[in-house]
Amino acid sequence: MGDYHVHLHDHGPYQGVGPPLGEYPPGHIEAYVEQAARAGLSEVGFTEHLYRCVESESVLGPFWENEPRQDLAAETEAMVREDRTLSLETYVEAVVAAKSRGLPVKLGLEVDFMPDSIDAVLELLEPYPWDFLIGAIHWIGGWSVDYGISAHEFARRGVRRAYEDYFALKTQLAASGAVDVLAHVDVVKRFGHVPAEVPTDLYAEVVEAAANSGTAVEVSSAGLRKPIAEIFPTPSLLRMFN
Ligand SMILES: [Zn+2]
Repeated sequence: MGDYHVHLHDHGPYQGVGPPLGEYPPGHIEAYVEQAARAGLSEVGFTEHLYRCVESESVLGPFWENEPRQDLAAETEAMVREDRTLSLETYVEAVVAAKSRGLPVKLGLEVDFMPDSIDAVLELLEPYPWDFLIGAIHWIGGWSVDYGISAHEFARRGVRRAYEDYFALKTQLAASGAVDVLAHVDVVKRFGHVPAEVPTDLYAEVVEAAANSGTAVEVSSAGLRKPIAEIFPTPSLLRMFN
């Protein structure tokens, strides 16, 4: 068994732990492989965030500028500017070099899906030797749906509508076939926002789209460490992917 959703750098400004942001010194990748082995895992798939790489600026663009809510746009802009410290080129080189040293690693990427930029994103990624791509919805328009600072939007929008907006994008991503795997498919629940009624209708749409395009779904324990304290996807949704 492996872990196929692993990031090599923390979010936010550099806190002095680990190598400086965007650097992959000797032993950095080895340390992840050793830690995985201690947990009984035989392989590690790295999935750096595309939006964190400086190369993504030209394809994702200032996507928050079309967000009508100024507060959400400002929060996203500040977050992206703070987090965009990595180099796609350097990341790929580091993982490819680790593979050629014989380490049990795979080269992946967590791709931010936005309908308007996905074609340009795939063009940017085309030259690199990916083993797999995972796809995520982190933004609905300019709203960072899984970013704590912007969680106030759930109260304004309503939880059901937030789910509708989120799953509409996730379904579009699943249908596009642009990625191999859907990452944290119901991350919209991260902070504990759950609609009064289980949104089976929204779940069914993403399940059907994924089945039609042959896109896999990630099962992630990361949700256990979030306020929702539950795996992604929620067990009732996971069963629907059967
Ligand atoms: Zn993610």
